[in-house]
Amino acid sequence: MSIFDEIGKIVDNFNSEFDKVNSQEKIVELKNKYLGRKGLIANLFSQIGKVEAQDRKEFGKSLNLLKNELISKIDKKNKQFSISEEKSNKNDYSLPGYSFNKGSQHPLTQAIDEMLDIFNHLGFDIAYGPEVETDWFNFGSLNFPENHPARDMQDTFYTEGNGILRTHTSPVQTRFMTKNKPPIRIVAPGRVYRNEAISARSYCLFNQIEGLYVDENVTFSELRGTLDMFCKMYFGSDVKIKFRTSYFPFTEPSAEVDVSCFLCGGKGCRVCKNTGWLEILGCGMVDPNVFKSVGYDPEKVNGFAFGLGVERMAMLKLGINDIRILYENDIEFLKQF
Ligand SMILES: [Zn+2]
Repeated sequence: MSIFDEIGKIVDNFNSEFDKVNSQEKIVELKNKYLGRKGLIANLFSQIGKVEAQDRKEFGKSLNLLKNELISKIDKKNKQFSISEEKSNKNDYSLPGYSFNKGSQHPLTQAIDEMLDIFNHLGFDIAYGPEVETDWFNFGSLNFPENHPARDMQDTFYTEGNGILRTHTSPVQTRFMTKNKPPIRIVAPGRVYRNEAISARSYCLFNQIEGLYVDENVTFSELRGTLDMFCKMYFGSDVKIKFRTSYFPFTEPSAEVDVSCFLCGGKGCRVCKNTGWLEILGCGMVDPNVFKSVGYDPEKVNGFAFGLGVERMAMLKLGINDIRILYENDIEFLKQF
């Protein structure tokens, strides 16, 4: 094989290798192989002594042409890779941004906001009270007798200095009434505390929303209408409500309210224990003794009150069957809301 044939062979090899190059790293490798100090082209130059004297000039010329061609091809390709590399770095504002996890409101916060929004539409303002209460506001002002079992250490958390972690949001009622005159129409959201064994159905703290309406000539049917409207707006317009007589120290008469099971439409399912109904809240007409404790004249004003458990309502609506998951801050659970 003549040295001229060798040039032809090197050109063929280069072309097929060049076509396969797919990265800047590979183009550098190729450059070293053919154009490096000990590369294939340099090797051919070093063999010029073997070429017949009359052919040396042409040999050198062809070799230089080849060398320049390879240099220009390699440089061109190298430039292409540099440009695409530049495009992929952080200065290219046309690239999509990095994705990251967005924060969202806790499902309980969402539920509270939704409920308060509904009561707001029904004409209720929002009131707040302290979580550490006095015995008077938590029990006494609400007509709990001295020996009522709810005052037992077993059920209530006491703080040093005779404070109580409020067991319900009802003390916000009497706190508000001592500072304001009727008419009053408020809802009071907040955390309440019970000394209970923790299980899927009960936790040592939960959220309540208390409602209070005081004016002249408030009727039980207004209470019913308010709760009926609230349930339809929260659970859906098809639900029905049912009152059952009950007892609370601070209301007379008192009732517990059931809502028709919105999961099975009242036919009966696992969640409603095949009854077609779900217990959701307690309510009643404000007991005259409560009005007396805040200096109102029960002959002149009357009103209704209600209290609902936010967790229970939210769990029913969202299909959650263990209250503890609402307090575990499991990111995979929270991401769903
Ligand atoms: Zn059901």
